[in-house]
Amino acid sequence: MEFSDRVLKCCDCGAEFVFTAGEQLFFHDKQFKNEPKHCKQCKAKRVRGGSRVRPETRTNCSQCGAETTVPFKPTQGRPVLCRSCFQQAQGKPQPVPEIAAESLAIPEPS
Ligand SMILES: [Zn+2]
Ligand SMILES: [Zn+2]
Repeated sequence: MEFSDRVLKCCDCGAEFVFTAGEQLFFHDKQFKNEPKHCKQCKAKRVRGGSRVRPETRTNCSQCGAETTVPFKPTQGRPVLCRSCFQQAQGKPQPVPEIAAESLAIPEPS
């Protein structure tokens, strides 16, 4: 099968790029059905962006025990909450510290 260079348009930036005969042969060999949709610059960007994996650590929720993943490394002794427990905790009104309640009480005259 003969291949000749073709000009394709990038889906991302609209730039024209050459799908060379050599590349077409490579695609044909690999039995890739789809033509490349992105120019070299955009492809490079995608590869770089895709390789940045967020570190996710599997752990168990300190509250309900459900398995969850966190985008950080949990430190020993620090409670880790699953998504739903975290949202519940966020929705709860902050408990009034005892010291504040005491200071509101009017001291009895002695
Ligand atoms: Zn592009
Ligand atoms: Zn939980």
